[in-house]
Amino acid sequence: MNSPLPIVDRWFVSESMEDGITRIEEPYADEFLRGNIWHVAGDDRDLVVDSGLGIGSLRTEFPELFANNPVLVVTHAHLDHMGSAYEFADLRAHALEPLHAPHGTSIRGDVLAAQLGLSETLPELLVTARTRSCDPERYEVRPVVATVTVAEGDVIDLGNRRLQILHLPGHTPGSICLFDWDSGALFSGDVVYDDDLLDDLFESDDQAYVRSMHRLRDLPVRTVYPGHGESFNGHRLREIIDSYLRAATRTV
Ligand SMILES: [Zn+2]
Repeated sequence: MNSPLPIVDRWFVSESMEDGITRIEEPYADEFLRGNIWHVAGDDRDLVVDSGLGIGSLRTEFPELFANNPVLVVTHAHLDHMGSAYEFADLRAHALEPLHAPHGTSIRGDVLAAQLGLSETLPELLVTARTRSCDPERYEVRPVVATVTVAEGDVIDLGNRRLQILHLPGHTPGSICLFDWDSGALFSGDVVYDDDLLDDLFESDDQAYVRSMHRLRDLPVRTVYPGHGESFNGHRLREIIDSYLRAATRTV
């Protein structure tokens, strides 16, 4: 038997970034599933991008996240992005993302790899601690239904800033980014982050991914707030895109 996981009272950590943006992440999740939750303060209302695994409660640990009528945008229906979506009254995602029946639901490595069609081997259990309310052996991501579906070109208006929805399929059919044309901030989900990009899952489409990357390369992006890992600038974004496109051309 495995030794029992330590129980922690706080599941998340947060870090203030520039420009009213806060990053929340899950230090006890394996790095494969350790995603970013972005909180963007607005004058009229707040925006939250993605929602972690749902092992800890955002409403309990970060009540301030819910103080200004937040709209949650889920970039795609993977468990590490939609886990706490059930806590939000205004929950938006692309219609092609099956939030009601997500493909990957488990934090057991072998189960998740089989559910997603992942070629790499994952650790046996994808967390190193637990909360009192969540037993990782029984964990399954909680299905939800979007209260509003979003599509290419839609705008999320926070009063002092506006973010446009970009539909950029490839990782999944309904993957979206949010782009602020005024500040150049891009919330990129799993479309792009500074690590190996996943374009070979069951639901992935590598040719669509290439088209999405070409489109992203032409945008005036200044700062990327990705679904995983540290944020980076537009120069690094174009390096990542070019490296992806070079490798994609080699395999065609
Ligand atoms: Zn994903």
